Amino acid sequence: MLSGMDVVTRFAPSPTGYLHMGHAFSACKGWAKARAAGGKFRLRLEDIDATRCKPEYADAIVEDLRWLGLGWDGEVRVQSAHLAEYTAALNRFEDRGLLYPCFCSRSDITQAQAAPHGGEVVYPGTCKTLSTAERAARIAEGRKYARRLDVNQALRAVIHGPGPLRFFEESTGWVEAVPQRLGDVVLARSDVPSSYHLCVVHDDALQGVTHVTRGEDLLAATHLHVLLQKLLGLPSPVYTHHKLLMNANGKRLAKRDGAPTLRAMRLAGEDAVSILKQLTESTA
Ligand code: GLU
Repeated sequence: MLSGMDVVTRFAPSPTGYLHMGHAFSACKGWAKARAAGGKFRLRLEDIDATRCKPEYADAIVEDLRWLGLGWDGEVRVQSAHLAEYTAALNRFEDRGLLYPCFCSRSDITQAQAAPHGGEVVYPGTCKTLSTAERAARIAEGRKYARRLDVNQALRAVIHGPGPLRFFEESTGWVEAVPQRLGDVVLARSDVPSSYHLCVVHDDALQGVTHVTRGEDLLAATHLHVLLQKLLGLPSPVYTHHKLLMNANGKRLAKRDGAPTLRAMRLAGEDAVSILKQLTESTA
């Protein structure tokens, strides 16, 4: 059994923009849980996508969290400084023959898809059936490729007994994982030797995270993450997928819809103490 002191939570934003109240709410959930238990709260910057992430947003995350009083324990983990570790993890999938190269562009995938699943693009498996010779020919032509997980094969590699693959959702209990919902996901992009899914699983274990608190928009990803954890022999944290903060029109907060950033609130002289109080009292 974990004692309260062993609880480790985290906030893992991607520095692709300034934080708004939705991010602060998520950070606050993890922070409050760790503080209530006398445990640790970790901060991680998920910045492997060099085309979308910017150093000024990373700096602003650190400043905004400090301003709000959401202090973290230990060093900030910056994913872009650890790409070799993710490559090593990726190679473990490769060595087991669980990956295949995918040469499709985003528009190839969207066009090939007959029925979108809940707005998410699920890969239709176009490159899975390429022969070894076809793959070699495309690679020889210099075509760029991502590496996808063959999810069915991966499942066969981990399910050995009658028990289902599952994860523990703190408020409701065990949930059977259905990683096929996301299809054959990309574990390494053509331009980045990794992906969100691989890095998040690797780093939650590395940082000793026992409780993952994140928005319900990432629930589908958790179905895959427990599979990756099993394949890498990593422990599964307890999960809480919290509700997302909504704007007055019932839409989730988003920068593109003008959600005020924490930075703007700070510069406008808003009071951090009352914002934090509002966040800790909000149930969304
Ligand atoms: N980096 C992800 C994001 O900003 C969150 C990852 C997570 O909490 O697992 O959406």
